[in-house]
Parts: sequence; C-alpha cells; structure tokens
Amino acid sequence: MIQVDALLKRMSNQKINYDSLLRKMIKEWEKSDIRPRILMHSCCAPCSTYTLEFLTQHADVSIYFANSNIHPKVEYERRARVQKQFVEDFNRNTNQHVQFIEAPYKPQDFIKGVLENNLQEAPEGKERCSFCFEMRLDLVAKEAAKLGYDYFGSALTISPKKNSQQINEIGIEVQQLYDVNYLPSDFKKQGGTLRSIEMCQEYDIYRQCYCGCIFAANQQGVDLKKVAQEAKNS
Ligand code: SF4
Ligand code: SF4
Repeated sequence: MIQVDALLKRMSNQKINYDSLLRKMIKEWEKSDIRPRILMHSCCAPCSTYTLEFLTQHADVSIYFANSNIHPKVEYERRARVQKQFVEDFNRNTNQHVQFIEAPYKPQDFIKGVLENNLQEAPEGKERCSFCFEMRLDLVAKEAAKLGYDYFGSALTISPKKNSQQINEIGIEVQQLYDVNYLPSDFKKQGGTLRSIEMCQEYDIYRQCYCGCIFAANQQGVDLKKVAQEAKNS
C-alpha cells in the first residue's frame, strides 16, 4: 500500500501540497487496481460531506467519531446524532456503504490533557488545537490499525478555520506509532469547502457556532447554556 513518506521523499524542497499528495496516492491505487479501506475522523457532519463524496469514488470509507473535546455532553450527542444521520442519508442517496463508528466519550481525558499542559489560554489554532488533533488522530489510528484499515485520516482539512499543514504534520507523526498508513489531504482545495456548504444545504445539516471545546467557546463568548438548551430541543 503506497505510503505518504514515499511520496514526500519525491517532493523534497517543495512546499507540501497535501491535496496533490492525496491525488498522487489515488493514481497509485488506480494503477494497482486497489480500492483501499479508510477510517476518517470527523467531528460533526459538515466536514464529512464533500470528504465522503470525493473519497468514496476511490475507496471504502468509514467515519470515526472520536471527539471527547466537545462540551457540553448534550452538544456532543447532537453532533454525533447529526453525523450518523448524514452518513445514513448519504448512503441512501449515493448507494454507498459508509459506516459510522463512535468512540467512547471521555471528556475528562481531554480536559486533563489541556490542564496538565497548561493549554487552556492558548488561542484557537495554536498549541491546544495541536494537542486536540493529536489526541483524536491517535485514537483514529489506533482503531484503524485494530480493525485492519489501510489508511486513517481527517475530514477536518476541509475546514477553512483549520490549518491543514498542522493536521497533516500531526497525522504523519502519529503514523509512526501504529501499523496503518496516514492519508494526507487538503479537502479545502479544488472547491471542497464550497461543495461542503452546498451539501450542508442539500442535506439540511446543523452547523455549529464554535469548534467544540469549552476553552474556545469561552474565548469566543459563546452562550453555552443556550447551546445546551438548543441541543436538548433538537
Ligand atoms: S472542524 Fe468544525 S465544522 Fe468541521 S467537523 Fe469539526 S466541528 Fe464540524
Ligand atoms: S478549538 Fe477546536 S481543535 Fe482547538 S482545542 Fe478546542 S475543540 Fe480542539
């Protein structure tokens, strides 16, 4: 199975375009007539829309919902429910067989890690997010290796608010720890973000107003009581 490291070696001294890396990888699958199995991390439905539409043309994909960073619990449950519903609707509309797998919700693991590393005040996008991506990509890689997937990856590279370089660098590091390959991506390239907005409208998908953790929500001034109430009523 082609690995991201092999492609990276051929691209030394170039700024890494993770979208073009993924497309090179897909060409290698096609040349070898391979349809790999991929476990993709997603933290709510929006980022998984175009990601699934694109990837299922080339691979058998499952979504792994591993998001103990999300606070409060009712909002976590809402995002999990919306993600599962989208996967079911997507399968029905496209005749695909994407699986939805949910990891146990362990918010104390995330909070403990943030406090131990003194990351509660870090601005969004910086060290706390690196910790958060690593925690979740580690869980995805571990599960992918356990279940015999060929690749693990993240749908989050489609989000214009997320740094794809940061996510891919962490994914490549996590790959070293498990017997499974990292799938590089930058789904926001080539119209991915626009298509995800269209698909959110087509599928009538809930879009949240903050990334997920209590720290970012507080920094952003989000009214978490209102969030919890809306999640309960949804
Ligand atoms: S990055 Fe934001 S929009 Fe994308 S899946 Fe996560 S919470 Fe949803
Ligand atoms: S802002 Fe989002 S990515 Fe960053 S730590 Fe919070 S939940 Fe995780």
